Amino acid sequence: MSRQILLGDEAVALGAVHAGLSAGYSYPGTPASEIMEYLIHLAGENKAFKATWSVNEKVAYEEALGVSFAGKRALVSFKHVGLNVAADPFMNSAITGANGGLLVVSADDPGMHSSQNEQDSRYYVQFAQIFGYEPSDHQEAYEMTREAFDLSERFGLPVLMRLVTRLSHSRSPVETRDARPQNELKKGAAKDWILLPVNARRRFGLLLDRQAEMVRFSDESRFNVLKLNEGDRSFGVIASGVAYNYFREAEAGEASLPSFLKVSTYPLPEGLIRRLVGHVDTVLVVEDGYPFIERQLKGLFGIAGKTVLGKLSGTLPASGELSPDIVRRALGRGPLPALEASGLPLAGRPPQLCVGCPHADTFKALNKALEGTSGSNVFSDIGCYTLGALPPYNAIHSCVCMGASIGMARGAADVGIRPAVSVIGDSTFAHSGITPLLGAAHADSDMTVIILDNATTAMTGGQPTYGSGERLLRLIEGLGVAKEHIRTIEPLPKHHDKNVQVIKDEIGHRGLSVIVAVRECVQEQRKRRS
Ligand code: SF4
Repeated sequence: MSRQILLGDEAVALGAVHAGLSAGYSYPGTPASEIMEYLIHLAGENKAFKATWSVNEKVAYEEALGVSFAGKRALVSFKHVGLNVAADPFMNSAITGANGGLLVVSADDPGMHSSQNEQDSRYYVQFAQIFGYEPSDHQEAYEMTREAFDLSERFGLPVLMRLVTRLSHSRSPVETRDARPQNELKKGAAKDWILLPVNARRRFGLLLDRQAEMVRFSDESRFNVLKLNEGDRSFGVIASGVAYNYFREAEAGEASLPSFLKVSTYPLPEGLIRRLVGHVDTVLVVEDGYPFIERQLKGLFGIAGKTVLGKLSGTLPASGELSPDIVRRALGRGPLPALEASGLPLAGRPPQLCVGCPHADTFKALNKALEGTSGSNVFSDIGCYTLGALPPYNAIHSCVCMGASIGMARGAADVGIRPAVSVIGDSTFAHSGITPLLGAAHADSDMTVIILDNATTAMTGGQPTYGSGERLLRLIEGLGVAKEHIRTIEPLPKHHDKNVQVIKDEIGHRGLSVIVAVRECVQEQRKRRS
C-alpha cells in the first residue's frame, strides 16, 4: 500500500496497471489525454505493457478489442466526442462481449472548456446496455478501475467509466495497492466474435439476459451509498459523480444531512432508488452533465405523488458545470464565503496562436489569396488552427468535428460554392481526413485542401502524428490526387508572396488540389532544442 498525489486521469491509469493491464490505446483529447501520457510514463523503458497513441479513437477501440479477444486486459481512453468516433466498434463489442477485461474510459467536458459539446457518456452506457462507473473522487477512480476489469471478465462485456473535466484535471491523494499479474493468452471463441446475424442474435439475447444481474450488482455495489434520515421524510437528494462532493460540501457544518443516495454505477441501482424515493416527498437530483438520472426518475419509476427537482425542473442549470455554490443554491443555502476579486485592471486574454506559429503565416497568405473572391467558404477542423476563426485572421468559417472540413468542402463544391477550401492539420488529416480526400480525389472535386503539417498533434500537448513530411506527400498521391496539383509551401513571412501565388494558382484550378504547408510547431521546436 502506498499513497500518491494523482490527477484523476493518473488514478485511472495506475488503477489499470495494478489491475494487470496488458495494453492501453488512446487518441489525444482534453480532458482524457493524461491517462495515456501517464500510461506511457508507467510503461517505462522496459515496456512492461503496451501503451500507445492510436491513429483515431475507432482504431484505438479496435486495437483494445483485439487485446481482449486474446484474453488480456485492455484499456481504451478518449474524450467524450471520441466515443462518437469509436461508436461502431463500441456498440458491437457489447454484442461480441469481452474475453480479457476491457475498460472504456470516456472523459466528458460539462461546460465545454475545450470541446464542441457537453454530451453525457452515461447515455452510451445505456445505449450499449453495458455496465458503467462514475467515480466521485480520485480514490474511487483508482478503485473502480481495478474492479472494472474483474467485472468486465465476470459479465463478459466491456465496461465504461465516465470521467468529467473537474475530476480528470484535479489532484488528490490516492491509496494504492499491490499490482496483480497480467492474464495469460486465451483466445475468444470465433462463434461469439463473428457477428453474422445467427451469432449476433444469440449474443444479443445473452446481453439482455445479463441486464437484471447488472442491476443487482449496481444495487449491491459498495460505491453506491444510501443514508436515510429517519427524522425528516420531506426531502432527499440523489447525487452522482463529482456532484456528490458538491452536495457534501454544501451540507458541511449542518446539524443533520437530508436523506441521500450517492449513485456511482449504471444501470441505476433501482432498489436503492426506490427506497430513497419511498422515504421522502421531494427528491433533488444533482448530476453533472445531462439530466440522465432525473429523466429516469420521472419516466421509468413513475413516482406518483412525489416531486422531482433537478435540471428539468429548472432548480439546477440545464447546461454548464455544476459547482458547490450552484448546488448550495438548489438546497436553499447562500453562497460560501469567498475572497473579493482583485481590483487590478487586468487585460482580457483571449486564446490565440503562439507568437511565430506557422498557422498564422498560412492564414495571412490564404486571406490574401482569397481577396476578391466570394469569401466565407473556408471549411476547417479541430486543432490550434481553429483559432484562425478569431481576429486578426477571421480566416475560417466552420469547425464541426474531426475531419469534417474535407467532406464539407466537397459537399459545398458539389452544389456550386467556389472557391471551396478546406484547412486541416496533419494529425486531424490522419485521424479522419484520409477517407473524405479519397472520395474527393475519385470525383476530382473542384476544391482546394490545405494540410497544415507542423509534425505534431499540437493542441493537446504535442503527441506524435501519423501523417507528416514525405510520408504525408506519398499518402496524398496514393489517394489519387494529381501529382501536379500537390504543392508544398513553407509558411514564413519571407515566403508570403510566393505562398499567396501558389494558393491562388490552385484555387484557380478547376478540380482537386492539395497544398501542404510544412513548418514545425514552434513549441515542439523549442522542446526539441532544449
Ligand atoms: S502550439 Fe504550435 S501549432 Fe499550436 S498555436 Fe502554438 S505554435 Fe501554433
